[in-house]
Amino acid sequence: MNTVTLSVVRAQIGDNQSQVNREESNNNKKRGTLWGQRKSETAKTGAMICGACERELPEGSYSGEQRVRRQSSRRCEECVAAGNQLVLMRKGRTRPEEDDCPICNLPLPLDTNDNDTKQSIFQACCMKSVCNGCVLTARKRGMFDCPFCRTPTPDDDESKILAMVQKRVDAGDPVAMHSLGQQYQFGLLGLEKDVTRAVELYERAAELGTKEAIFDLGCIYDEGTDVEEDIAKAIQHYEAAAMRGDVSARFNLGCGEEDAENYDLALQHWMISAKMGFQDALDNVKTMFMEGLATKADYAGALRGYQSAVEEMRSPDRDEAERISPRAV
Ligand SMILES: [Zn+2]
Ligand SMILES: [Zn+2]
Ligand SMILES: [Zn+2]
Repeated sequence: MNTVTLSVVRAQIGDNQSQVNREESNNNKKRGTLWGQRKSETAKTGAMICGACERELPEGSYSGEQRVRRQSSRRCEECVAAGNQLVLMRKGRTRPEEDDCPICNLPLPLDTNDNDTKQSIFQACCMKSVCNGCVLTARKRGMFDCPFCRTPTPDDDESKILAMVQKRVDAGDPVAMHSLGQQYQFGLLGLEKDVTRAVELYERAAELGTKEAIFDLGCIYDEGTDVEEDIAKAIQHYEAAAMRGDVSARFNLGCGEEDAENYDLALQHWMISAKMGFQDALDNVKTMFMEGLATKADYAGALRGYQSAVEEMRSPDRDEAERISPRAV
């Protein structure tokens, strides 16, 4: 089938001025073999863990096709016959509460395309992303400070913004650790680029469960430009982030499985990602349908799920904010 470009563009957390997009590189060929590569876990015991029922079963309990898969995406024959889903596919199918705007409580729009205007603003004072609808409403009422915590906005003063972020890092806020990590990864807010420091901060945030930090670690190991490329580590991080409801991580897992020609797994990942409102995933499901790799029902289900996710992310305030010039927001 046509190669689906792996063009996840991830909105970076930053202040209003320093939002940066990152585009993931496509490591198709290398990854194709690595994703399908079997680990030597059976060497000693002859037993393998099923990714659905999580039982340790003798090698013979798996079909040849399943045996060569990673633990997280392998099912025993019993689970295949019963249609038991992988744990990887059961978890993280909806967006977590932390993805909601803290003011209107609606899920934040997915800022995944660098051609789009950002649809929410990250507040360095309280580490909250506030949707443009709520920002607009606050400004109409004459409030130009942070719409969530009312801290005066430091405007373009990078050193003030950095001090705010640092203060929250010192207080042990994992969202701040992730944000500071991004400033180091890209050399923003007047900081010298320092990927080692960024990885340290991401790891601290990841340990505390920040899915964006887990996803970014996955990207760093996947790209291998600033650290040594490690696809196994990248997958591990994408899986952990996806199971916490990270839409981009879920999408990337689909891309990896497609490269490895595990089309059934690719479809499952993209279906989940599409139903969370990610358009690229919906497009890929459509392509699979046109190529005969997905059914019409799959595509219809993905489309319905996508539309309702998009609907959930809309509100009259957000629509109004989108209509008017982004500069005015
Ligand atoms: Zn099983
Ligand atoms: Zn809002
Ligand atoms: Zn605030």
